[in-house]
Amino acid sequence: MTRVFSGIKPTGHLTLGNYLGAMRRWAEVDQHRSEALFCIVDLHALTVDHDPARVRRLSRQAATLLLASGLDPERCTVFVQSHVDEHARLSYLLECVATDGEMRRMIQYKEKAAREQQRGGSVRLSLLTYPVLMAADILAYGTDEVPVGDDQTQHVELSRDLAVRFNQRYGHTFVVPRATHPKVAARVMNLQDPASKMGKSDDSGPGIVYLLDEPEVVRKKVMRAVTDSGRDVVYDRQERPGVANLLEILAACEGKDPEDLSGAYASYGALKKDTAEAVVEVLRPVQARHRELCADPAQVEAVLRAGAEKARETARPTVDAAYRAIGL
Ligand code: ADP
Repeated sequence: MTRVFSGIKPTGHLTLGNYLGAMRRWAEVDQHRSEALFCIVDLHALTVDHDPARVRRLSRQAATLLLASGLDPERCTVFVQSHVDEHARLSYLLECVATDGEMRRMIQYKEKAAREQQRGGSVRLSLLTYPVLMAADILAYGTDEVPVGDDQTQHVELSRDLAVRFNQRYGHTFVVPRATHPKVAARVMNLQDPASKMGKSDDSGPGIVYLLDEPEVVRKKVMRAVTDSGRDVVYDRQERPGVANLLEILAACEGKDPEDLSGAYASYGALKKDTAEAVVEVLRPVQARHRELCADPAQVEAVLRAGAEKARETARPTVDAAYRAIGL
C-alpha cells in the first residue's frame, strides 16, 4: 500500500493556503487510499525566533484543526514530531550526506535568512539545515508520496536526492519519495500582495485568511483583496495575479476549473462576493468541529499519544537500518 507522509509547522495560525494546498486533500483523499501519517512538525518551528509557550499552544491548535478538517485517527496517524526521537536521530545521519552548497541553494532559506537579517536578527543554523530534518521526517517512514503545496517542491526534491545518495553509498535503505500537488490552489497567494504566498508565519493579517477567522472577517478580507486596474475577469497568473488568485480559491472551494469560472463573471465585485461565500462555506464545518474538539482537549492529547507510539514503531526499523548501513 502507498505510504504517505506530510507535515505542518506550528509557527502561526493555520491559513486557507494550508487548507486548500494540503490539509483538505489529506482528509478527503490521502487517508482513504493510503497508509498515511500527518505530523505537526514542531522542531521546525524553532528555526526562527519563537516563544516556547506559543509554539506549544500552536502545536495543539494545529493538531485540533487537523482533526477538525476530517483526519480520522482510525484511518491515519496524527502525531507531533518532537514526540518521536527518530526524526532527530535520522537528521544527523543525513547531515553527513548533504552538502553545505546544496543547503545554501534552497530558495526558502535564502528568502527567510534575508528577512531575518533585514530585521537585524541573526540566522539560526537550524534554518540552514531545516530541509535535512524535513528529509528525515519523510525518509524515516519509507514514504512514497508527500502531498504538499508547490512551495515545498524543492525540499521534497532534496529528500529524493539524499535518499538516492545514501542508497548508492551505503546500500539500499530508503524509499525514494515524490511530491504530489493539488490540481488547483497549489499556491494560494496573499490577498493584499498576490506576488507572495499566503504564509502563516508572515503576520501580515489583512491578506491572510485564517481557518478560524469568523465569517465576517473572511468576507471583509476577500472583499478588500487587491486586484488590478482592469475590469474584465480573466484567468492570467502572470498579468492578473490578484484576480487569478481569487479564481483559484473559488475554483478550489467549489471543485471547479478557474479558467471555466472566469467566463461566468462580469465584474470583480461579483467574483469577490462569491469567493468570500465559498470560503465561508468551506470553513464552516471545520470551525464547528474545532469548537467541539476544543471542549475535550484530553481527546486530542490521547490521539497524539497513540499517534506518536505508532509513528515510532513505523520509523524505528528504517532509522536503525540507516545507522547500521552508515557504519555505526
Ligand atoms: P506555512 O508556509 O504556512 O508555514 P507549512 O510550511 O507549515 O506552511 O506547510 C504546511 C503545508 O501547507 C505544506 O504542504 C505547504 O506546501 C502548504 N502550504 C502552505 N502555504 C500554502 C499556500 N499559500 N498555498 C498552498 N499550499 C500552502
